[in-house]
Amino acid sequence: MNRIANRTPLQRPEDKAAGIEVTEDFERFSQRNDVFSRAMWDDRVRTTRSDAFFASYRMEATPRRGDGFSQRDFALRNAAWLISDMVSERSASEGRREGFQSPITVDTPVAPVKAEIDDTTRMTAEIKKVARFFGADLCGVTDMDERWLYTGRVDTRDMTEVPLGLPEGLSSVIVLGHEMEHELVATYPSALAGAATGREYSHEAAIVMQLAAYIRNLGYEAIPSMNDTGLVIPYAVKAGLGEYARNQMVITPEFGPRLRFSKIFTNLPLSHDVPRPLGVRAFCDICTRCADACPVKALPYGPPSTDVPNLSAIRGVRKWTSDAEKCFGFWAKLATDCAICMRVCPFNRDFSKLRDKIWMKLALSPLRKLALRLSRGHGARLKPSDWWG
Ligand code: SF4
Ligand code: SF4
Repeated sequence: MNRIANRTPLQRPEDKAAGIEVTEDFERFSQRNDVFSRAMWDDRVRTTRSDAFFASYRMEATPRRGDGFSQRDFALRNAAWLISDMVSERSASEGRREGFQSPITVDTPVAPVKAEIDDTTRMTAEIKKVARFFGADLCGVTDMDERWLYTGRVDTRDMTEVPLGLPEGLSSVIVLGHEMEHELVATYPSALAGAATGREYSHEAAIVMQLAAYIRNLGYEAIPSMNDTGLVIPYAVKAGLGEYARNQMVITPEFGPRLRFSKIFTNLPLSHDVPRPLGVRAFCDICTRCADACPVKALPYGPPSTDVPNLSAIRGVRKWTSDAEKCFGFWAKLATDCAICMRVCPFNRDFSKLRDKIWMKLALSPLRKLALRLSRGHGARLKPSDWWG
């Protein structure tokens, strides 16, 4: 059992505002059960198709004919992933896939002299400014809530679980958001669209490494992290960046669901943001566009529940939970990632435009049914060849 020790109450006072409901049978999630890890050790997930899915990221799988799945589409997608791949593969011989199944290895020592910090609010504002300087689109800070840490990391040499290896005394999680390109996301499903994902992973790898280096230069611990070490979604929600939705994504006022998140674990003294309930939950209660559009019906209908379809889902949290096996099975079939459920979401808009800002206000108000009606036909697929122009 991976229960948190009794000293840590399962439900916390701030959970209500974050829309988090943890039940008695809560267990921390083992990263070994993440569907991408299972594709390496579990024959229920590992198939010839899933092997070809991973091979396609090395240009080994033959690109299929068809708009969005040609050699140039795979070529762009894989080029977009390059920096992230370089980071994730540099410690492969030690069983660490950095940024995915292991925290990113720090490249700089912690400075021997600590910068004096007498105002945590100012320090937090400074960190957010530095995060923006390095290229993050959103930044929030929350506490080191250990419920969302994985029980361990995966040693990729034999896919066993080993300790996370985080230093003692970490007190905060800095969560960063990275916007995905609107037009590319409109081309999902396609190998071309995967370039939107890859580009942000490459961006976020550089940004978390640089921001962590800045903090370490100030004399404090900072561990850069992408998908590894803990579940980023609850940290993003607690850090006030957005609200959890039926499509398993965090919907933000700035970019809707169209972004990726990364994080840094640190002991730098910082003040913490608070969750911002926006009204997304009420909208998702009347909307099923993502679930309807999912080709393999991997997304749930009805209200949030504690049901888990298989071992690739955390137990003891009442929420909308996808069937990750079905979802990944579709990715493997495509030989690329899918985010149809991001594309069709009515919140996937360009909020720099006034009409989309007005729509958002309507959607988060009691007039949400009208907003849903107004978004009929929203999120139509852009032909990948039209993106290339
Ligand atoms: S990513 Fe694609 S397959 Fe997975 S839940 Fe979303 S729409 Fe379904
Ligand atoms: S498509 Fe509708 S139900 Fe799905 S996440 Fe977006 S708003 Fe919520």
